[in-house]
Amino acid sequence: MLFRQFFDPDSSTYTYLFASAPGREAVIIDPVKTQAEQYLTAINQLDLSLVKAIDTHIHADHVTALGDLRDTTGCMSMMGEYTQAECVSTHVRDGEIVDTDGVQLQALYTPGHTDESFSFVLRPSAPQAVFTGDVLLIRSSGRTDFQNGDPGLSWDSINERLFTLPEETMVYPAHDYKGWTASSIGEEKHHNPRLAGTSRQQYIEIMNNLNLANPKMMDVAVPANLACGQISVP
Ligand code: FE
Repeated sequence: MLFRQFFDPDSSTYTYLFASAPGREAVIIDPVKTQAEQYLTAINQLDLSLVKAIDTHIHADHVTALGDLRDTTGCMSMMGEYTQAECVSTHVRDGEIVDTDGVQLQALYTPGHTDESFSFVLRPSAPQAVFTGDVLLIRSSGRTDFQNGDPGLSWDSINERLFTLPEETMVYPAHDYKGWTASSIGEEKHHNPRLAGTSRQQYIEIMNNLNLANPKMMDVAVPANLACGQISVP
């Protein structure tokens, strides 16, 4: 399989592009508007045809490239069924399998970071990887203090859904702030300091006491992303 990970240094966002092989249809997850040219370069050089652009959730820290990629390539824009982004052409339901030229992704509803967050499991019949958005990060987890976040639901999504995947399943999150590029379900089960050996109540207390500042771009990014990244906000 062809698999590429891109990084946006301004927001520490990871974007994933993959296809069964060069020359085939491709899918991209969590693309960043300011990096769209890079993705298009790779897509052209690898002779891919981009058919799906997926956001795991409405991001608060960067503007999505979903709309721009749709306009440039004619790809489908896709989010989970509970998104408020009406610009998206396709809404996936929990459990639905998204097939791209033989590459299968299963949509998994994993609320907590936001109330509309989805994760996507690569090759659900024998899971290889899971794209977790911001629900599960490497040795961390996505904040739950805005966009209808809920630490209890975050705990449930991680423990009852993601942690039921095989331990060797690779974890590819939407962000990392320390330079880690990938993890696995087993690693996070055993070494994630917020999750390993903590109770649901302890996790809720940890998450309710993070005292984080709002993302710099939040006031711009959230309304822009509700329009697939294509409105200018004063
Ligand atoms: Fe987020």
